[in-house]
Amino acid sequence: MARVTGDALTLCGVCNRRHTNLTRLLGASAPDAWLAVSEGERLEAELTPDVCILPDNGVIRHFIRGHLQLPVDDPAITPFVWSIWVEVDEESMRLIARHWSDPNRAATRPLDGQLSNELPYPEPTKGLAVEVHTRDMGQAPLIMLARGSRHALAVEQREGITAHRVAELGELLQR
Ligand SMILES: [Zn+2]
Repeated sequence: MARVTGDALTLCGVCNRRHTNLTRLLGASAPDAWLAVSEGERLEAELTPDVCILPDNGVIRHFIRGHLQLPVDDPAITPFVWSIWVEVDEESMRLIARHWSDPNRAATRPLDGQLSNELPYPEPTKGLAVEVHTRDMGQAPLIMLARGSRHALAVEQREGITAHRVAELGELLQR
């Protein structure tokens, strides 16, 4: 797991201390399906920091890594970033590949996909419908959950989280 840390600027409204060494970005190095396929399939697969092409029981699956951002109520540590994987169809992957080195690639239309990592939320996150928004070169695409979704992760993306919650997420992932 990739990890980036930072210190909160202000006292926490929940526990009245200043959180330091907070995790600002947490990343999965591969889609969960990577661990589920056979050793032989992994040998046939392609995994880079940004893209995963994975044979799985006779079908080829396509994944792209993106950033799912949660706004934080502290300016020093916003946003919190889940650096995670999204499954897209073959046509979308072709479109992404074709525009990868295009200086105007941020103009690519948003692509539909499904979250492909389980995150520490009460309800499953794997399989959640998302939109992938390509950004300028050097920036991972943005992952947006459906506006109407009532999933806790979607609510956090919409409404933001506290520095205290950022501290909690960091602890959850250390277990
Ligand atoms: Zn706190």
